[in-house]
Amino acid sequence: IAAASPSTVCRITQTGDGTRVRLLANINLLSELSTAKELNAEGIGLYRTEFPFIIRPTFPSEEEQYLVYKHLFDEMADREVTIRTLDIAGDKALVYANATSGKNPDLGLRSIRFSLRNRPLFEQQLRAILRAGAEARHLRIMFPMISSLDEFRDARSVVDACVRDLKREDLPHHPGPSIGMMVEVPSVVEIMPALAREADFFSIGTNDFIQYTLAVDRTNEKVADYYRAYHPAVLRGLARVVRAAKTAGREIAVCGEMGHETAYIPFLLGIGIRILSVGPQFLPALRERIAGLTLAEAERHARLLLAEDTLAGALKVLETPTSG
Ligand code: PEP
Ligand code: MG
Repeated sequence: IAAASPSTVCRITQTGDGTRVRLLANINLLSELSTAKELNAEGIGLYRTEFPFIIRPTFPSEEEQYLVYKHLFDEMADREVTIRTLDIAGDKALVYANATSGKNPDLGLRSIRFSLRNRPLFEQQLRAILRAGAEARHLRIMFPMISSLDEFRDARSVVDACVRDLKREDLPHHPGPSIGMMVEVPSVVEIMPALAREADFFSIGTNDFIQYTLAVDRTNEKVADYYRAYHPAVLRGLARVVRAAKTAGREIAVCGEMGHETAYIPFLLGIGIRILSVGPQFLPALRERIAGLTLAEAERHARLLLAEDTLAGALKVLETPTSG
């Protein structure tokens, strides 16, 4: 058996010149937790709670959800876990709820919009999370698809109400979770400074951010060649979002697919990203890629990329090898 290289077995990830990068795992099913741990994820950066909903014939009860989330927190007791509230969408539909029907499900009553419109279901989920995370050192709850400050406040107020209810009912629960949001809708780019005053942390869902910035259905093969992460509007939007979060002293991660794509790692580090959450299978290669870069060259690469106005120009910079 070939010996694993030190950078694959070590939990700490850093660039060649010593900049620390935290690598977390995205999890859809609890069965993926063992791979995440074996491959030394520092925690779970995105637990997609829609899967316990999708695999059942009807909405899971608070108790059923509690058991799933409790298992997650128990398994990861020594590591950070970020749990995302229900994110149903066109490609993650519930057979027993017709919320995602309509001509444009991904522009419809999806995600946090569904949760806010169905408050008892949202409360059930939040109560299950707060109860399951009662012992967690840091409980981190993240809302998907936030598109305005008002919507973030509405969602946060439901968490506060659930904490108050659980206290009144004398049920063990986490009293003060960190509340974060995903950056997936381009409308948040302009209002990031305001959001960063209220959200505790951010995670960029590049899959949806690209889909909505470029008006390209991420699941439609016919327009797959319009789905370009290197579009100047996508790259500059990402850079602005990261700058706004950092200026406010807020943590910002990337949890979309871009976060493991070798070609984009120098850009993401270059604009200031220091936390990546990826499918666990990508962790070893990502660790190697980061170790082969220096921050100075990543920053230079990002500057060059951000200066390009065209797709062709950006692609050319992207294809110019950086070491690693
Ligand atoms: C994203 O949009 O990039 C993301 C991580 O969320 P999902 O893929 O679950 O939509
Ligand atoms: Mg998304």
